[in-house]
Amino acid sequence: MLMFFVALFIVLVVGDAASTFLYHVPQHIWGKLHLRTHHDRSRSYWDHAVISKDPEILLDGVLGALPYLVIAGLLAPLSGWSAAGAVLGLLLGQLHVWWRHTTDLGWRSPAWVVSLARLACVVLPEDHDGHHRNPDIEFGDVFRFYDAPARAFLNYARSWQRRRRTAMRRLQRIKALRVMRNAQRA
Ligand SMILES: [Zn+2]
Ligand SMILES: [Zn+2]
Repeated sequence: MLMFFVALFIVLVVGDAASTFLYHVPQHIWGKLHLRTHHDRSRSYWDHAVISKDPEILLDGVLGALPYLVIAGLLAPLSGWSAAGAVLGLLLGQLHVWWRHTTDLGWRSPAWVVSLARLACVVLPEDHDGHHRNPDIEFGDVFRFYDAPARAFLNYARSWQRRRRTAMRRLQRIKALRVMRNAQRA
C-alpha cells in the first residue's frame, strides 16, 4: 500500500524534474521544436497542447512526457501497488496538462484552489499561462519549485554561450590579423 503512494509521488515529482531539466529547459536553450510549437503565440494553446494532431506538436508532447513514462515503466514492475500508483501518477500528470492550459478557455482559479495549490507548490493554469506569455519564467510542469533552479540553469547556460561566442569572435579576429600580417610579410 505504501508503494502506491511512493510510486505516485515519484512519477510526478521525479518525472517533472526529469522532464524539466532533460527536455524543457534544454529545448529553451538549444532547441527549436518546443519554442515553435508550445510557444507559438499565433494560435490558441488549448489547441496546441490538447487537441492538435500536428505531428510536431505531438512530438513535443511525447518528448516532454517521455521522462514520466520511463519512470513509471521502471516503477510498475515492482509490485501491484506500485504499478497502480505509477498509472495514477501518469493520469494525474495528463489531467494537469489539460487543466494548466484552460486559461485560454476562460478558467480562473477560485481563491481556495489558489491557496491549496500554493501550499502544495502546484502549478496553476494562471502560472503556466505566465510561461506562455514569457518563455523565460514559470518553468516546471506540475510543481513550482523547479522554476528557480530551471531559471538559474537557463541563465548559466546562456551566459556560457555568450562567453563562448565572444571568445570565438576574438579568436577569429586574431586569426584574421595573423593572415593579414603574413600577407604583408610575403
Ligand atoms: Zn503550455
Ligand atoms: Zn516552454
